[in-house]
Amino acid sequence: MDQKILVILPHPDDEAFGISGILAKSIAEGAHVTYACLTLGEMGRNMGVPPFANRITLPEIRKKELEESCRIIGIQDLRLLGFHDKTIEFEDQELLDEKINSLIEEIEPSLIITFYPGYSVHPDHDATGEAVVRTVGRLPRSKRPPVHCIAFAKDHEAAIGKPTILYDVADYLEQKIGSIRAHRSQFQVPGLSEAGISKELKERFGVERFWVYPFS
Ligand SMILES: [Zn+2]
Repeated sequence: MDQKILVILPHPDDEAFGISGILAKSIAEGAHVTYACLTLGEMGRNMGVPPFANRITLPEIRKKELEESCRIIGIQDLRLLGFHDKTIEFEDQELLDEKINSLIEEIEPSLIITFYPGYSVHPDHDATGEAVVRTVGRLPRSKRPPVHCIAFAKDHEAAIGKPTILYDVADYLEQKIGSIRAHRSQFQVPGLSEAGISKELKERFGVERFWVYPFS
C-alpha cells in the first residue's frame, strides 16, 4: 500500500526547509500527502525584500506562496484550517484536537509529520506538535500512526537525542529549493539562484532529520 502522509504544521513555509525534500521524494514514490496548515502566517513581520506585502495583503500573499510551494513539491491536498497566527498556544485545545482527530479519521494516514513539542522554537510550533501527539496518543495503540517530528531548538539533541531518521534528499533539491523560493515574502536565501545548486547548498539542504515520537 502506498503511504498516506498527513503533515500538520502551523505556518506557510514551515514545510520548506525541514521536510519538502522527503515529501517530494515520497510523492515521487507514490505517496499521497495532505498538508494541514493551521494559519496563514498573517502576523509575520517579513514583507519581502524590497517589501511587496503589507499587513492587509500578507495573508493572501502567503496563501498564494503556500499553494505555489505545494505545487512544486507535488502535494496533492492542502487544507487551510483557519486558526490565527501566533495564538495556537491559546486556542481552545478541544477544538484543535477535534480538527486534528477528524483529519486522522478521514485520511487514515500511515504517517504523520509535525513539530516535536517543546523543541521547535516557536510557541505555535510547540503547541501544534503538542496537539498532534495529544490527539494521536488518545487513539488505541493499534490505530496510532507513527508521528515523525522536526526539532531544531537549541540544545535539543541533549534532551531528545540524535534524530531517529536521516533522509538523503539530494535528488530532490530542485523541489526543495523551489519550495523555499516560493515563500519569497519570507526568505531571501543567498545563493538560491536559478543557475543551479551549489555544493554548499547540497550539503546544507541534502539531509532531513526526524525524531520518531516516543509514545510510552
Ligand atoms: Zn513556523
